[in-house]
Amino acid sequence: MNLRLKLILPFALLLVAVYAYSSLYVIPSYVELAKGKQLEQESTYIDLLSTALLPDLLESDLANVYNTLDTVLSERKYWYTLSLFNVDGIRVYPLSGRYIPKGTALESLTRNIIFNGKQYASIKLQLDLQLQIQQEVSYIKKVQLYVMLILMVTFIAMSLFLDMLIRKPMVKLTHFADQIANGNYQTDAVIHSQDEVGQLGKSLEIMQRKIHERDTAMSHFSDIQDTIRFVQSKFISEQEASHVFLELQRRILELTHCSEGLIGELMLDNKKQPYISPLSINNTLHIYSGHTNTVMKLTNDEGQRLCQADSLLGKMMATGKPLINNGPVISSEQLGFPLDNDHKINNFLGLPLYTGYQFVGTLCLVNNKNGFTDSIFGELEVLLQTLAQLIVAHRERKTLIDNETRLRLVVDNAVEGIISTDEVGTITSFNAAAERIFGYSQHQMIGISVKSLIPEQNYTSHVEAAKFLLDDNLNILQVNKGLETDGLHLNGKLIPLELSISKVVTQQGLQYTGIVRDITERKQHEAELNQAYSELQLAHVQLEEQNRQDALTGLSNRRHLDEVLQLEWNRAERQSDSPLSLLLCDIDYFKKYNDTYGHLEGDECLKQVAQAIKNSFTRKVDLAARYGGEEFMVILPNTPTDAATRQAEKMRQNIWALAIEHKSSEVAARISISVGVYTIHNTQGLTLNSCIGFADEALYHAKEVGRNQVVHYETLHAQNSHDRLIVTEPSLKLSNG
Ligand code: GH3
Ligand code: MG
Ligand code: MG
Repeated sequence: MNLRLKLILPFALLLVAVYAYSSLYVIPSYVELAKGKQLEQESTYIDLLSTALLPDLLESDLANVYNTLDTVLSERKYWYTLSLFNVDGIRVYPLSGRYIPKGTALESLTRNIIFNGKQYASIKLQLDLQLQIQQEVSYIKKVQLYVMLILMVTFIAMSLFLDMLIRKPMVKLTHFADQIANGNYQTDAVIHSQDEVGQLGKSLEIMQRKIHERDTAMSHFSDIQDTIRFVQSKFISEQEASHVFLELQRRILELTHCSEGLIGELMLDNKKQPYISPLSINNTLHIYSGHTNTVMKLTNDEGQRLCQADSLLGKMMATGKPLINNGPVISSEQLGFPLDNDHKINNFLGLPLYTGYQFVGTLCLVNNKNGFTDSIFGELEVLLQTLAQLIVAHRERKTLIDNETRLRLVVDNAVEGIISTDEVGTITSFNAAAERIFGYSQHQMIGISVKSLIPEQNYTSHVEAAKFLLDDNLNILQVNKGLETDGLHLNGKLIPLELSISKVVTQQGLQYTGIVRDITERKQHEAELNQAYSELQLAHVQLEEQNRQDALTGLSNRRHLDEVLQLEWNRAERQSDSPLSLLLCDIDYFKKYNDTYGHLEGDECLKQVAQAIKNSFTRKVDLAARYGGEEFMVILPNTPTDAATRQAEKMRQNIWALAIEHKSSEVAARISISVGVYTIHNTQGLTLNSCIGFADEALYHAKEVGRNQVVHYETLHAQNSHDRLIVTEPSLKLSNG
């Protein structure tokens, strides 16, 4: 049911009710009332008629009575019957009765005509009251009709009026609401009345505005979300950060309805003073280098520095809080950063960017079409956070790139070859030194298996070295150092290398880095060094030998003799049961030999004698040494007196057997020797020197008694020595061969 029907329906119902009420209650009640009144009137009239008839009845003038009754009847058309009865109750007027049709409702009024207590007659009146009030009723019905008509017209007029007053505005408002629902916020409700409808219109308009705002905010939000997504994906893919910041700024300007702006990174100069380094400025590409604007404190390679303390930007930086300036800004100096083409600046918004509590940069917006309000902080909140994170990421990337560049420089200029491979050994980097070592260019090697640099026979050892690192699952740098191996040069030759393999797990996966050093030269040096070393060792041995040998005779020299003597003495001290014998020999008349044959011949003779002495002793422990000049000493460990004497004698004979001519010898015409022997049985109470002295004493005695013989000290002192008394041999043994 539409509104118009709803508006008409109550009136229609009211109309029906009025009609029904008037027809069913008002008119019937009126008829009843009119009937009662009429009856009362008629009653009074009958009373008057009775009174009027009385004189004629008293005089029995019936003609007059009838006359009167006829007159009355003729005047009262609605009197149905009027009858006169005598005292006996016999109707005397009219003579004939009137026919009463069936269904006619008649009212009766009867009056007795009495005078002085005597009844003379009675009259009875029958009335058709219906007929009598017919006219009035029809008049009332007419009135009812008019009233109904008037009411109907009024109702129609009212419904039209209400239609105009309520329905039409409602239709408008419905349409307006439809528009809102369909997202059209441009139309207005256009209802300006002060009543409830007007109120509703206003409410709808407020609603429209709020929905519009929310809608705008929502689309704003999704725009912001889009922008954030865009920037994040772009930042990952785009190497050139300035493009990303420029695009981001363009979008922010679009979102915020601003004409120009600045995204800047907060930096610290050498003196720890903060300044803003622009990441993107204005909505057109700004050329940083060569900008001559006086606002800038132009600097070195770092680009522009925005740090004008008394500018709006400077104030925002100093407080670290958002700054809104809706008044016009006169100059770029006041603003703190330059704009393209010296635009007129109507308003300014400076927003600090934070990650956590760290102030990392700023977003400045200029020339918002409606001026800036606090609501922008909420709108841009998420975007500002993203922007801050982006600046931090940019900073980290810069550091990373710096580090990478530095690393690359180090790698490129390293003396060692640096080769990186992935997990399966495909080369991912190959530095200049590696090019020099292996003869391949970087270009040739990237993407190639590292196998081509390893001789086949070495491959397993390389794999083992890498495996050693693989076994450990730790994601940290691990190093397997200093392996010596061979590499394969482009020309097919083997290059001796020192190799360190390190493993590191990166985001791209496992990475092996081999550091190789060409050790060809070192190897050569090593070989030379080894050669030199062995020569040196040989020389050293020879020197040692020489140190122990007598140069002329080849027997042990005096120094070595002393050492051995001391050792044997020490042993004799420890082991009293092991006798130590010392033989001291001297060539007889050797001075004369020299004199006769010359010194060189003397030397030659010395050599022969020495050799013969040496050959006389076969035990390893025995030591023959040149004691000095033409004197020799033989040490016989663990040799008792008699054995020592026998050995000495054998030696003497061996020299005699050499038969070296010695014409001037007083012994015989050949070389002979004299020998003094001393055997140490017990070292107690003795010294080494005294023992040597005893041997010398025995030698002296051998000389004394004729030379060319062996004298044992014990035989010499058999009579007066207590502990060395045991002399088994004859005191002197002389043999001439
Ligand atoms: P004696 O029988 O008493 O031993 O008489 P001798 O002439 O051998 O006397 P002595 O043992 O004192 O003489 C040592 C001589 O030996 C002196 C020196 O001419 C000679 N002589 C010592 N050392 C060397 C040497 O190295 N070469 C040569 N050719 N002669 C030496
Ligand atoms: Mg001598
Ligand atoms: Mg001599």
